[in-house]
Amino acid sequence: MEKIESKRPLIIAGPCSAESKEQTVNTALALAKTGKVDIFRAGIWKPRTKPNTFAGMGAEALPWLSEAKRLSGLPVATEVATAQHIEEAAAHDIDVFWIGARTTSNPFSMQEVAESLRGTDKLVFVKNPINSDIELWLGAIERLAQCNVKRIALIHRGFSSYRATILRNAPMWHLALEMRRRAPELPMICDPSHICGRRDLIGDIAQQAADLNYDGLMIESHISPEHAKSDARQQLTPDALNALLNEIKWRLAESDSAEFNVAIEELRRRIDHIDGEIFQLLVERMNASEEIGYIKRDNNVMILQSARWDSIVNRTLSLHKESGLSEEFLRTILDAIHIESINRQNRVMKGE
Ligand code: PEP
Ligand code: MN
Repeated sequence: MEKIESKRPLIIAGPCSAESKEQTVNTALALAKTGKVDIFRAGIWKPRTKPNTFAGMGAEALPWLSEAKRLSGLPVATEVATAQHIEEAAAHDIDVFWIGARTTSNPFSMQEVAESLRGTDKLVFVKNPINSDIELWLGAIERLAQCNVKRIALIHRGFSSYRATILRNAPMWHLALEMRRRAPELPMICDPSHICGRRDLIGDIAQQAADLNYDGLMIESHISPEHAKSDARQQLTPDALNALLNEIKWRLAESDSAEFNVAIEELRRRIDHIDGEIFQLLVERMNASEEIGYIKRDNNVMILQSARWDSIVNRTLSLHKESGLSEEFLRTILDAIHIESINRQNRVMKGE
């Protein structure tokens, strides 16, 4: 039989948390009715950032998931983080497990989870770690593979970032794409709910994932989002989820059209040429920084001159305000240039 993870696009939906039998079952039934959902999700052990917040209903909710599965016909998934979770969930015939961002971040937990899952035939989703470290993500996959877990898929849920943006977790698409390059055999699912943190932005992020050739989506959906006990602002009603999924265009990975291929080829050549120029200019820019380093060294002046750097940042941001480049992008590039430049001047100071 075809494995569920081969379905494209693979859609996983359900509430952040199972809160009551009624809420769990009714959400599952409404989602099944859309005909677009492949796996029903509901968290029952919730790793919360702060104590004294709703931490999920625990094992009491397992029979609700079984009931949701029986009545909706959908396979069910829940988050597991300890050996005990896995044992209890398996005893209730939960079909699919996911490993949350906080667990992927912790090698001790990952080792425990991998050993408890040893040899399982179940599908296991592994969310990216909280911080932007794909080695941790790969390490989690390797621990599972070493325990002979064969059906693994990745969930990209964004990374916490020190700079506040309107998104709850920065997508850092390049990291997910790098992960895909390193583990090309694993399906990559996007979780726009945890990236966005608010429902009005989910459609955009979901479409971006579709455009980047993701294999599916995990989206939080609650029968009555405004009453949700966790992640209320980011959950969609099953109807709203249905409407959102209807709008998403899943694009083709390739096209046979000659016209398309010629147009793409030309633009790619242009991009390659521009990239070449950008990096040549960066080489020249860093050479100039290095020369400044020699002058600072010979005059015993310190490397970091904050006022000068502030003026570079302010000038760049104001010059490019209307350029279509986002402030976040401009700041990221400026930060990278600044770090490289300081490193170069540091080497000059140390006489390297
Ligand atoms: C969740 O899916 O409800 C969840 C807790 O997600 P994450 O581990 O991505 O924060
Ligand atoms: Mn959630």
